[in-house]
Amino acid sequence: MADLGNPQNTIDVLKRYQFTFQKKFGQNFLIDPRVLEKIIRAAEVGGDDFVLEIGPGIGTMTQYLAETAREVAAVEIDDKLIPILEETLKDYDNVTVIHGDILKVDVEQLVQEKNQGRPVKVVANLPYYITTPIIMGLFESHVPLDSITIMVQKEVADRMRVGPGTKDYGALSLAVQYYARPEIVANVPPNCFIPRPAVGSAVIRLTRHEQPPVSVKDERLMFRLIRAAFNQRRKTLVNALHNAPELRLSKDRITETLEEMGLSSNVRGEALTLEQFARLSDLLAEGAED
Ligand code: SAM
Repeated sequence: MADLGNPQNTIDVLKRYQFTFQKKFGQNFLIDPRVLEKIIRAAEVGGDDFVLEIGPGIGTMTQYLAETAREVAAVEIDDKLIPILEETLKDYDNVTVIHGDILKVDVEQLVQEKNQGRPVKVVANLPYYITTPIIMGLFESHVPLDSITIMVQKEVADRMRVGPGTKDYGALSLAVQYYARPEIVANVPPNCFIPRPAVGSAVIRLTRHEQPPVSVKDERLMFRLIRAAFNQRRKTLVNALHNAPELRLSKDRITETLEEMGLSSNVRGEALTLEQFARLSDLLAEGAED
């Protein structure tokens, strides 16, 4: 089968199947072999690896993965792409295409079956409209993960790696950094895709921490606090947490806790580090009612 990293081969396949791109599925197919090679290298895919690919499109990156990995499972939502994938991947007996929505597939069970529960590598040129739920779903589930190497919108890649005091800092930064070490691998301009996206893209590698960098008694509470803090990021942390009904926290209780941490009652959530959110969560949990 012809290398789909070559743009002309991709155009030929799309024409032959009279494929029309669906905006609702975030379809922008990669047509630059150098970028494809960079992704595979950054993901450190080797002959013993099981790789999960999200959204294979016409199978361009899947071919590169199949050449390098022991086994690949690729989850694609669009019916129209399934017959195309049958053709473009027919030479590989180590690829399974799963027709479905990645947010509904039982990835834990898949990994158990295909990799006996050992850590997997996720590699994908993600559909940008669901980047955050995909990443958070993987981290929050019990899927054993080695790393996630993904193409995302440039701005989202920046949000994942920044710290307090920057405009991009938010719930996504904290969640990603709690679970993984983010590293930007490449910036990718729109002309590496067909059709061209309206925004710049970046490849980011998230290497799963063996142990989170902070310890917290109640992870769920910490993330509820983080979400509440950034839902109303222009408000003070006291007001943002007090306004979140599910937290049931009085202003006095929040103010006292911040004081105990040496923080002003006017502080905003965007000024707190991950360590400070963990400490805040532990202190608030101490006095919480069951
Ligand atoms: N991997 C291909 C490439 O690099 O050329 C295609 C990448 S394209 C940005 C995203 C792909 O994800 C499309 O094929 C799209 O149909 C698929 N997709 C969108 N939403 C999905 C979902 N919820 N579950 C699985 N695949 C999805």
